[in-house]
Amino acid sequence: MPTKRNQRVIRKIDFRVLPAPGTVLMHEGQRYVMVGSDLHVSRDGKTVPIILWQSYCAECGTPFQCSSGLKSGSLNRRCPVHHAPGKAVSGSGRKRVSRHLRKHGRRKKP
Ligand SMILES: [Zn+2]
Repeated sequence: MPTKRNQRVIRKIDFRVLPAPGTVLMHEGQRYVMVGSDLHVSRDGKTVPIILWQSYCAECGTPFQCSSGLKSGSLNRRCPVHHAPGKAVSGSGRKRVSRHLRKHGRRKKP
């Protein structure tokens, strides 16, 4: 008997329906396994399914769970301890903003 092993590796969060538990996702070099689903009620009252993923912290290797929509481009890469929301992002974002400001400032007439 063939063993039922659905080891199809997904590389993009772009589902029409919820993937089966155990679905493996490779996202930016990190491995996520679908472990369940939940329902999320958005602000306009719509109920949308969300996917629960389990992965291992990029920092310390601790297993953690995160969630995404059926179509999503980003996922947590770190456990709650190492997940500093916006830390790296705002750092580079701030740099970019100040660079933009400088450029815009220069473009303005003195
Ligand atoms: Zn960690």
